[in-house]
Amino acid sequence: MRLGLILGDQLSLDLPTLAALDPATDRLVMAEVAEEARYVPHHRQKIAFLFSAMRHFARELAQRGWEVAYYPFGEHPHHSLWEALAAEVDARGAAEVVVTHAGEYRLQTQITGLWPARLGVPVTCLEDSRFLCGRGDFAAWAQGRKQLRMEYFYREMRRRTGLLMDGDQPVGGAWNLDASNRQPYRGQVPIPPLPRFARDTIDAEVLALVAREFADHPGRLDDFAWATTRADALLALDHFIHHRLAHFGDYQDAMVSGEDWLFHSALSPYLNCGLLAPAEVCAAAEAAFRAGRAPLNAVEGFIRQIIGWREYVRGIYWLHMPAYAAGNALGNRRPLPGFYWSGDTAMHCVKEALRNTFDHGYAHHIQRLMVTGNFALLAGVIPEEICAWYLAVYADAYDWVELPNTLGMVMHADGGYLGSKPYAASGNYIHKMSDHCRHCAYNVKTASDADSCPFNSLYWHFIARHRARFAANPRMAMIYRTLDKMPLARREAVLARAEALLDDLESL
Ligand code: FAD
Ligand code: SF4
Repeated sequence: MRLGLILGDQLSLDLPTLAALDPATDRLVMAEVAEEARYVPHHRQKIAFLFSAMRHFARELAQRGWEVAYYPFGEHPHHSLWEALAAEVDARGAAEVVVTHAGEYRLQTQITGLWPARLGVPVTCLEDSRFLCGRGDFAAWAQGRKQLRMEYFYREMRRRTGLLMDGDQPVGGAWNLDASNRQPYRGQVPIPPLPRFARDTIDAEVLALVAREFADHPGRLDDFAWATTRADALLALDHFIHHRLAHFGDYQDAMVSGEDWLFHSALSPYLNCGLLAPAEVCAAAEAAFRAGRAPLNAVEGFIRQIIGWREYVRGIYWLHMPAYAAGNALGNRRPLPGFYWSGDTAMHCVKEALRNTFDHGYAHHIQRLMVTGNFALLAGVIPEEICAWYLAVYADAYDWVELPNTLGMVMHADGGYLGSKPYAASGNYIHKMSDHCRHCAYNVKTASDADSCPFNSLYWHFIARHRARFAANPRMAMIYRTLDKMPLARREAVLARAEALLDDLESL
């Protein structure tokens, strides 16, 4: 008989492992182990979400006739996945282990490099078919290109999937409607609350377990709102399509104090662990457009994130690991400030993004990119430290998606491979896109005073200190002209203020 291992982000009935095995003769193994739960201090909601979704999935597999050996956290002696698997191989006399390719390089190298010898049986590793662009297909697309552009990859994916296409042309004539997706939110339309789900005994047991065993991990548990079954994840999808998708595009880049989800889908945890499939999510969005229930700018913007960005960052990850993780092109040396973990800062925009993060294991894209990410970029934080933080604190965080977003998109630590220009921005961007500055102790209009917005002086310091790298970039020429036109005394005052802040980031 063969043993199939189902990982925590492989909760899909169409998983290749299940297709390759036979419930009549083969067995499945699922395990909650400390090595996976503790290799970074994962947010407690992330652990609760995954443990509960895994237990519900195991129950569903059993109902479908599979025999599942399930190892609940704390009820077995095994520290790592291979140890739990080895116990099953011995107990069952299994002849082979079958597993679908892991999402993380760290685990995948163990599976192919170490497990066959440790387990004493062959380990068959199957390609993960749940993505719309296979690793090989991405490598073929990337071959021979000096710099990869998400936009061209995205157009290729539109053609390949047929999503929002009229023949071989994009519906509406344009591939990308991002320019119309940058409105601040000023209460134009009400923001619908997220759906809530009924909790069962599995959820209750897991929440109690996580509260007990992971008290030292970050994040609150009291407002746990994630779906933990496929049925509820489908309800979450349906709710998004009917109540928030129509305004997703308009307010995609907006931020509002106290509004944690705005018109975002909050579907990434389900997509990333397999409870939802990217194709079905995009099909539901396209159907809403075709039925006249959501405008093209919203649906195109949403689909681009999934068939474009999501597949693109995964392709880059597998093309360039493990070297990619070591990137530090800007030579950053500052440790991550402690307030990223405590949430305690006077910068209102950062405080809000951190509150959202610790309350839910969630922050929307603009908070991650333009607030916590932008600050780390401007302050020159060591990429490894900020990457470990993002990997820990979000319910949707897995190395394959978190690393390119943080190290590449935010920190520009890959030398501009993923984005031709850093997303660096002063407080003015945050002021334009949010209500945060009105509630802040700092003054967004100034850059060199004792109460000036830290983003302002740090922005100019970033621009000035990386002149050698960016001055020749045509997309940044205007910024350098503005810096050079600044009266000398003002420039010196702004840079001096930035130096003082950089010497004492913890005080912000
Ligand atoms: P929506 O705004 O509703 O977008 C729809 C879907 O598009 C998301 O569910 C997600 O699957 C996909 N998507 C959107 N943007 C991206 C992107 N840049 N890369 C990949 N997929 C995208 N996303 C993760 O899933 N896991 C991560 O660990 C993660 N880390 C990030 C770290 C940083 C520094 C940044 C800037 C972004 C990161 N993202 C990550 C991307 C993005 O912020 C989240 O996917 C998004 O906020 C999830 O919320 P949502 O489901 O409401 O997204
Ligand atoms: Fe953030 Fe600066 Fe605005 Fe304060 S003033 S909320 S620190 S951008």
